[in-house]
Amino acid sequence: MSEAMGGSVAERVVAWQMASGRNHLPWQQTRDPYRVWLSEIMLQQTQVSTVLDYYARFLARFPDVAALAAAPQDEVMGLWSGLGYYTRARNLHRCAQQVVSEHGGAFPRSAEVLATLPGIGRSTAGAIAAFCFSQRVPILDANVRRVLTRLLGFDADLASARNEKVLWEHAQALLPVHDLENAMPRYTQGLMDLGATVCVPRAPRCELCPLNHSCVAFKKGDPERYPVKTRKLSRRSESWQLLVLRNPQGQVWLQRRPGTGIWAGMHCVPIFEDSASLHRCMETLPSASGLSVQELQPFVHVLTHRDLHLHPVLVTGVAAAQPTEDGEWLGAGQWSSIGLPAPIRKLLDTTQASLW
Ligand code: SF4
Repeated sequence: MSEAMGGSVAERVVAWQMASGRNHLPWQQTRDPYRVWLSEIMLQQTQVSTVLDYYARFLARFPDVAALAAAPQDEVMGLWSGLGYYTRARNLHRCAQQVVSEHGGAFPRSAEVLATLPGIGRSTAGAIAAFCFSQRVPILDANVRRVLTRLLGFDADLASARNEKVLWEHAQALLPVHDLENAMPRYTQGLMDLGATVCVPRAPRCELCPLNHSCVAFKKGDPERYPVKTRKLSRRSESWQLLVLRNPQGQVWLQRRPGTGIWAGMHCVPIFEDSASLHRCMETLPSASGLSVQELQPFVHVLTHRDLHLHPVLVTGVAAAQPTEDGEWLGAGQWSSIGLPAPIRKLLDTTQASLW
């Protein structure tokens, strides 16, 4: 990439890191892959300030990967306690054991092999390989993803694996090409530091950024738009049986929904997960009063994460004062003053109209 001002992106990141980046964190004073790996795993979902104490305690108890591998899992989990995301601790322990059993106690030197170890994803593998072995490989953690998407004006949706792959290719193309021994650790650290201190999610400090002359998002004035990532919603389908009980006065039996979940706290007709439970309930209704049972047209109600397939059954002529454990008889005049879910209101209105 040719740059109008101040050298390539990589050169500017390296120079900025030396002058203005973070250079005094304990894991920056070493190229020992055990220490770098430990810090990278701890930093994955935790702030630097919290990690500092834990990092020191771990190293005091487990000075090398063999000591960690030999420790009982309970002790590792105990030391991790308070850092959260305990899968990280379990993978940390398994990874140490695998480094000892399969790699003779030495971390592999290539990102590709590192990424085969438990708990080490592509970006963490890249960080270890770049910091410890100066391998020319990119990282793409959340901070770096933000910097690069803004720099490049990369607005493709990163929820798509294909777009994510394209961003990795861009990240690879931007890597330093000279003096890799020094430049790779500096550049990798520089991108992390930029994302953590300058190119922050809200109100990035672009005036301090070494990349502002070539940053597309800065030029367009919309850095906060990046990165673009829609959440993929996994849709579920659910089937509900609705029991619409109507008494001779034309009132409908309504219950209040639980305080959490769909239609929380609203009034609704009794809902059953399957028709067997619905029929069990119907069998308890007094039948001497001339009940009429009618299966109504099923319909689908679409929620954000779910499709509700609703199967209403209308039972008229119910004389029971208390047909189910909780609920109350409410007439059409009261429906508008209580919270009713839209599809239930529509169902009741339709049912009401058809009965006249
Ligand atoms: Fe981020 Fe601003 Fe730098 Fe662009 S100029 S990389 S938006 S801090």
